[in-house]
Amino acid sequence: MARYTGSVCKLCRREGSKLMLKGARCMTSKCAFERRAYVPGQHGAPNARKKVTDYGIHLREKQKARRIYGVLERQFKKYFEIADRKSGETGDNLLVLLERRLDNVVYRMGFAPSRNAARQIIRHGHVQVNGHKVNIPSYLVNPTNNIEIKETSRSMGLIQDAVQNSMDSSHYEWLSVDRNNFKGEFLYTPKREQVEIDINANLIVEFYSK
Ligand code: SF4
Repeated sequence: MARYTGSVCKLCRREGSKLMLKGARCMTSKCAFERRAYVPGQHGAPNARKKVTDYGIHLREKQKARRIYGVLERQFKKYFEIADRKSGETGDNLLVLLERRLDNVVYRMGFAPSRNAARQIIRHGHVQVNGHKVNIPSYLVNPTNNIEIKETSRSMGLIQDAVQNSMDSSHYEWLSVDRNNFKGEFLYTPKREQVEIDINANLIVEFYSK
């Protein structure tokens, strides 16, 4: 499956905000966005003047969401269509759907330093849902699902480091996490207002409504 293989820090600079795609490094002075908070390339020089259209604003918000959750365009549009068919606000439905992705849940639980790393450990078969291996990062987690790092994978450096260094998950009220035992439960589907993420989903709805 096609995926982005370029510099993820360039994505942050392109979107004009820290998308936190590199785990612990994002919190250090090595963060490329802290050092060069402007669009990469000659047109993004700090003093370059640029007029942004409404379309550009909507596009950038959609791209930002896509890049934070690490979803390709075609799949992102599918999420939008599912969200649009559900009752309630389409933008809220969209963000809640993205939150249910297994790679996001593994990252939120603190078993991986970033969503990218979570995708990697899922693809390599280190994650179980309700006791069964699931190697599909886009798998949508349901309420009461139990997520667990496979017993033989718990000594992996990447996972050990993440468990020790990742941020506390206790403010994600919809998750119950037992990091000592490398497991957690997705208690319920969160509401949009519980998901702290700097995305204006209405702009994404505008983008797809044209
Ligand atoms: Fe973005 Fe993290 Fe790279 Fe900083 S270190 S530019 S937040 S991915």
